[in-house]
Amino acid sequence: MKEIIINLQGDLDFKLGEALLSKLEELAEAPHRILLDSAGLNSATLEGASILNRLPEKFSNAKFALCSVPDGIDLSAQGQKGIAVFPDRESAKKFLISSTSEFKDDGFSEGSSVLINCPNCFHLLKVQTSGNYGCPVCGSKFFLTKEFRTASFERLL
Ligand SMILES: [Zn+2]
Repeated sequence: MKEIIINLQGDLDFKLGEALLSKLEELAEAPHRILLDSAGLNSATLEGASILNRLPEKFSNAKFALCSVPDGIDLSAQGQKGIAVFPDRESAKKFLISSTSEFKDDGFSEGSSVLINCPNCFHLLKVQTSGNYGCPVCGSKFFLTKEFRTASFERLL
């Protein structure tokens, strides 16, 4: 069972929503746990929020959790069934692990690889540890923290 952490950054509009959809479609065959971290979002449009809330329905073999929605950004499903929302990563991970216990693996364990997105072009990279990474598609460099958050600058270690 693959796990993916996607760091949403910038403005969640129709364009970013569509980019997210097309990336997830590339991975859609196998079941996944998908953690969407929205801490880096500056704004969200209704279209963007609506794409997000339709993900669980569209990818029914995956489990979704959304966490760390910044104050003032409304990602709610407008009264409809939407994506599960959690205040922080820990509660989101607990939800993802508990709701997929039939797969009998140990979840977000140390040393397992996860997929993260390039903060610049959204390309997904498989990573195992924190450190500096270069995107093979757009060439941008970024730093990945232990919590699998991306920072779009290269940090001096
Ligand atoms: Zn890139």
